[in-house]
Amino acid sequence: MEFPTINGESDPYFDRRECRVCGSKGLHEPNSFAYVSAGTMTKLDSRASAPALDQDSFFEVGWHGAHSDLDGTGERPDTGGHLDIVKDGPGSQFAIYFCSTRCMRQFFNDCVDALEARIKNPFDRDL
Ligand SMILES: [Zn+2]
Repeated sequence: MEFPTINGESDPYFDRRECRVCGSKGLHEPNSFAYVSAGTMTKLDSRASAPALDQDSFFEVGWHGAHSDLDGTGERPDTGGHLDIVKDGPGSQFAIYFCSTRCMRQFFNDCVDALEARIKNPFDRDL
């Protein structure tokens, strides 16, 4: 799995209607699918909101190790890192589509695996 899975306006999996986990075709309407979506909205008035089109979105998972100089405790003290899942998503919103919740679950497992690899090798930016 390559990360970020969405970088700027590019989402080749969505363009091909392909599940980014298992590669099945025909993803999206009119077929069944699972998705993760997030973003921000600009409040127009008390009853209406609109996408904040002048803003970009991001989605990341990360690790913040304990501060050993402050007697913090926890795994991997004095380390840190993050994994970009979505970077510079245009229009303040994004959606990531999957053919099934099974593939969605595998995707998040892959995200955590990639984050753990990054924490173990913080200077290898190709992970
Ligand atoms: Zn799939």
